[in-house]
Amino acid sequence: MNEKRVYTFGNGKAEGKADMKNLLGGKGANLAEMNLIGVPVPPGFTITTDVCNEYFVKGKDTVVALLKNEVENSVKHIEDLMNSKFGDVENPLLLSVRSGARASMPGMMDTILNLGLNDEVVEGLARKTGNKRFAYDSYRRFVQMYGDVVLGMKPVNKEDIDPFEKIIMDVKAQRGIKLDNDMTVEELQQLVTLFKAAIKEQTGLDFPTNPMEQLWGAICAVFDSWMNERAILYRKMEGIPAEWGTAVNVMAMVFGNMGDSSATGVCFSRDASTGENLFNGEYLLNAQGEDVVAGIRTPLQITKEGSVRWAQLQGIEESTRAAEYPSLEERMPEIYKELDALQDRLEKHYHDMQDMEFTVQEGKLWFLQTRNGKRTGTAMVKIAMDLLAEGEIDEKTALNRCEPNKLDELLHPVFDKMALSSAKVLTRGLPASPGAACGQIVFFADDAARWKEEGKDVIMVRIETSPEDLVGMSASQGILTARGGMTSHAAVVARGMGKCCVSGAGAININYKARTVEIDGTVLKEGDYMSLNGSTGEVYLGKIETKPAEVTGDFAKLMELCSKYTRLVVRTNADTPHDAQVARGFGAVGIGLCRTEHMFFENEKIKAMREMILARTKEGREKALEKLLPYQKQDFYGILKAMDGYPVNIRLLDPPLHEFVPHDLEGQRIMAEEMGVSVEEIQQRVNSLSEHNPMLGHRGCRLGNTYPEITAMQTRAILGAAIQLKKEGFDPHPEIMVPLIGIVNEFDNQEAVIRETAEKLFAEEGVELSFHVGTMIEIPRAALTADYIAKKAEYFSFGTNDLTQMTYGYSRDDIASFLPTYLENKILKVDPFQVLDQEGVGQLIDMAVKKGRATKPELVCGICGEHGGEPESVKFCDKVGLNYVSCSPFRVPIARLAAAQAAIEHR
Ligand code: PEP
Ligand code: MG
Repeated sequence: MNEKRVYTFGNGKAEGKADMKNLLGGKGANLAEMNLIGVPVPPGFTITTDVCNEYFVKGKDTVVALLKNEVENSVKHIEDLMNSKFGDVENPLLLSVRSGARASMPGMMDTILNLGLNDEVVEGLARKTGNKRFAYDSYRRFVQMYGDVVLGMKPVNKEDIDPFEKIIMDVKAQRGIKLDNDMTVEELQQLVTLFKAAIKEQTGLDFPTNPMEQLWGAICAVFDSWMNERAILYRKMEGIPAEWGTAVNVMAMVFGNMGDSSATGVCFSRDASTGENLFNGEYLLNAQGEDVVAGIRTPLQITKEGSVRWAQLQGIEESTRAAEYPSLEERMPEIYKELDALQDRLEKHYHDMQDMEFTVQEGKLWFLQTRNGKRTGTAMVKIAMDLLAEGEIDEKTALNRCEPNKLDELLHPVFDKMALSSAKVLTRGLPASPGAACGQIVFFADDAARWKEEGKDVIMVRIETSPEDLVGMSASQGILTARGGMTSHAAVVARGMGKCCVSGAGAININYKARTVEIDGTVLKEGDYMSLNGSTGEVYLGKIETKPAEVTGDFAKLMELCSKYTRLVVRTNADTPHDAQVARGFGAVGIGLCRTEHMFFENEKIKAMREMILARTKEGREKALEKLLPYQKQDFYGILKAMDGYPVNIRLLDPPLHEFVPHDLEGQRIMAEEMGVSVEEIQQRVNSLSEHNPMLGHRGCRLGNTYPEITAMQTRAILGAAIQLKKEGFDPHPEIMVPLIGIVNEFDNQEAVIRETAEKLFAEEGVELSFHVGTMIEIPRAALTADYIAKKAEYFSFGTNDLTQMTYGYSRDDIASFLPTYLENKILKVDPFQVLDQEGVGQLIDMAVKKGRATKPELVCGICGEHGGEPESVKFCDKVGLNYVSCSPFRVPIARLAAAQAAIEHR
């Protein structure tokens, strides 16, 4: 532990600097830095983040004792620079106390302003400033903030009204006035008395009159706020570790509420929403910082351009705007000039868009904070590309400035912000597939398809989905499921389709019979509207307007830059020519996984498939497969053509056969009729297919090994399609992949069937074609014996969905039942089906790659599990030397960016 606990700054000097964020927090480090580069900042000091950790270990009293000397000396340092004294009745100094963690956590922790006032000091402040109104306004604000934050008066429920606000409302109501600023000095004084009485009544405590006691109370309250519920939740969302702690920043108060030559505001060096290089922001005349945020008064625009634009949106006449809503540029032209120059200096200094807070006290400008501004995905890309073009940053920095996951926002439709702000959240599930969707509720796939045909937008609501629901899913705007995790059927398929999906929303109760869904007391019927946010997992009541996402030129530029630096190749998981096309548009150079089973669900195909399943003999199966062959061939033809010139890795049939037969009586009746057999026979077969643990049952290569004729048919379809394309002058590169290998013999037998079938086909067609046969590594035993498997297999593709399932022993379809508890209790840090477990599953991958390449040095290795589109997992894939990653079409740009960042990091 560093012995120095407090770092001072002021008057162009500072003990800290910008690169000390870990110790001083973002705010503290930047306050120091601003001093060093000549930006006017009120003097102050920062108590380090280490002290925060110390505070939670050693307790309040010990830490206060440890800090005492340094804090008292630092207060003296401020007094000297400000020429005033803390707690002095003649010439008082007031302080602000603010939090400041390493990463910005806007609004999550506490702030106390105007600290140091009591009944005597307030009189001194009034005399010193000649402004009694200002003095008492500051005092009542202080008592209110201190009561809320330090003495715990702030209501726990967001819905409950703050006790102090209630008093203010009552006082204003009595006088029939609307604005805080209309209160008289006497009323402000009255507020102080009423506030103190409320504190005494609610907490039994007297408001502390000793300024030093106030200061310690505030410092400890800021540390305490690190552990408040809001902050904990925010950290969880943003992945900020609790060990980082918050710093405490104590600064001399400067006042934006000293009359009409004072103001306070927030500004950005560029537009945080669009990324445009436009200085912008809001301010309030004669106000303190929290007024801007609190939304009590309407803030005004800083630039004239912004003000004119704002007025147009509000439908306000130019003359009215200029008179009643002037910009800071018009209201305080000199200050504006200085502010504009300083914001520019700060942006150039940090080489990034800045988010700044400032106060003007009687015509003098002060900066209270600067930080790299938060921004939307669109703004992120535009700002990075603009800064690169401006020569502010280099290519690698531009790439690293972009957060891969945020690219998502550029790819999916989004909710209209205004519409969202007034929408009601019904419940939350897992953010399974991003985007915004709204539509009418349907519960069944065929309804979804029919309604869609009738021109309706639908949301399909299911307990969970199965391949039978595919048609419905594809017809829906979005999918909501009660069960299932991030790699459940619904989630995987929806992501593949680029379709919004919220999965595992445990609070929804679906009644298929009544065609209703009950959510927390609200009952919705089929046809009622609901909206989903697949990026947050939120489920809303009713319709919320959406707008299509725009892919700008900057996005393309960023992608080009990715290609320049990346080593890993990015392929896509695609089962249809359309998906392949979409992915290709996003820059995918091949298909890493084509799941063939999804192709079996359309009319004639499912019939033939069921016929095959029902057949009791090999001949019977072959007859049915013969019917399937032309359909499969056609499917593969389309996909190989869409990915012409690039490798297309097609996986043999994988899911257990029971997924292809109906489980409801009605469906079984229809099937019986179609097949010309009795319902009992169908039921018998369905029952015989049922397994206690289908994920570990008769699936994957176990199907091909028991029914080699399926493998033969699929091989004929794949290679037949490729031959046809070749004859037509295309350049197909088929790869045939055997799933779920655990024993090398499983692979060898399947490979023999594939090669034999190919030989026959080539002889028939009189055409030779090069193709590869590889395997998935998705069973731990396959990873352990990879050296043997690589003797025959030409490539490995890591199926990390199953590999995760079998390494942890967690069913990928049932994890939602305990995952929330595991995350809450920190048993798991993240969902391992979303973020690759590098320690465990990753070890198997690393080992399998090494073992495989020990046998076959040129062995191509890729990943096709869901992790292939998750940035941290992609970086891991780069590290262990995979050749490619493969992911859903809509994650291709994300994977490309992560791959480029990995290349920069690792080489
Ligand atoms: C996997 O297991 O990771 C995989 C890609 O296959 P599937 O998800 O189809 O089981
Ligand atoms: Mg699998």
